[in-house]
Amino acid sequence: MEERPDLRGMTRDELAELVSSLGEPSYRAGQIYRWLHPATGGGITDISEMTDLPAGLRSTLSGSCLVTTLEPLRVLISADGTRKYLFRLGDGNVIETVYMRYSFGVSICVSSQAGCARGCSFCASTLGGVARSLTAAEVMEQVSAVERDVREKASHIVIMGSGEPFDNYDEILRFIHIMTDEQGRRLGARHITLSTCGVIPGIRRFTAESLQVGLAVSLHAPRQDMREKLMPVAREYPLDELMEALDDYFSKTGRQVTFEYALMNGVNDSHEAAVELAGLLSGRRRMALVNLIPVNPVRERGYATSTRAAVRAFQKELENRGIHATIRRELGGDIDGACGQLRYHYMQEESD
Ligand code: SAH
Repeated sequence: MEERPDLRGMTRDELAELVSSLGEPSYRAGQIYRWLHPATGGGITDISEMTDLPAGLRSTLSGSCLVTTLEPLRVLISADGTRKYLFRLGDGNVIETVYMRYSFGVSICVSSQAGCARGCSFCASTLGGVARSLTAAEVMEQVSAVERDVREKASHIVIMGSGEPFDNYDEILRFIHIMTDEQGRRLGARHITLSTCGVIPGIRRFTAESLQVGLAVSLHAPRQDMREKLMPVAREYPLDELMEALDDYFSKTGRQVTFEYALMNGVNDSHEAAVELAGLLSGRRRMALVNLIPVNPVRERGYATSTRAAVRAFQKELENRGIHATIRRELGGDIDGACGQLRYHYMQEESD
């Protein structure tokens, strides 16, 4: 990868340091930062566009720094307006980003890694393993590139694309700082949600940051033995320890945790599983919000989605036992909707 500093992934403080090392007045950092991360979204793609900088500084920056810019390789547009972008990175890796329209605004789902190392048995992102973690600039540019394309500004960010964000902790945190910076994009931290498969050290660090960012945890099973079969991460971070870390998160931050539960026909969608899940969460009614997701079938994985009736019955069982549960609206199912499917199929085409 390029060794030159990437202006797009720098926090305002980091940019200020760079500017001062070049012997420039500090207000130049603010100028550069606003070109890259305007409150209106989008942002420039080349240093030459920073027209209020002296030509000399622009040329110094162009010679010593880069600004990662992504051009869509492919854009799939769903009947419901959802867009899936496939981007090629500087080193040839491909990643995907999703744009979703809701009544409340525009949500962009970013990838944190090219691929994923965690190996969940129902997920497409992990089919080819992990190529590498993304830089903060590459995560940031997923948002900006989509915004430039649709000419809209993201009102919500979900860090739920391919990859495990807590396996790329520092760069993801830098991205969050840039998105929420008062002097840049000013996105409310509450409008960002990060989803983890249950990496406990990441949850502990995240707890200590005391950000307002929402936390979602991929649970998918109410018991350790069932969870281990679906998610290898459960062997490293067992369910009881995960719940302990989340209890601690809730007691320190007062923030609710969303438990994602992908329903797979005949695997984790039984009446018994719903009862067990309610049991697991029964002492945690204030903390827990369950989000039921009819699994998006991945050809290579072989799981079938639960029937509508099974999904409703599962939700009803939880609600009857006082656990709040919602069913995720499916968007973009007609365009390789599941996490990492578009990327994986593209990589296979390329290697054919
Ligand atoms: N690694 C993180 C974030 C990326 S996955 C995590 O595991 O949370 C985002 C969400 O999509 C997770 O809840 C994941 O379990 C879920 N997911 C993955 N493949 C899916 C599929 N085929 N159908 C439905 N949800 C899926």
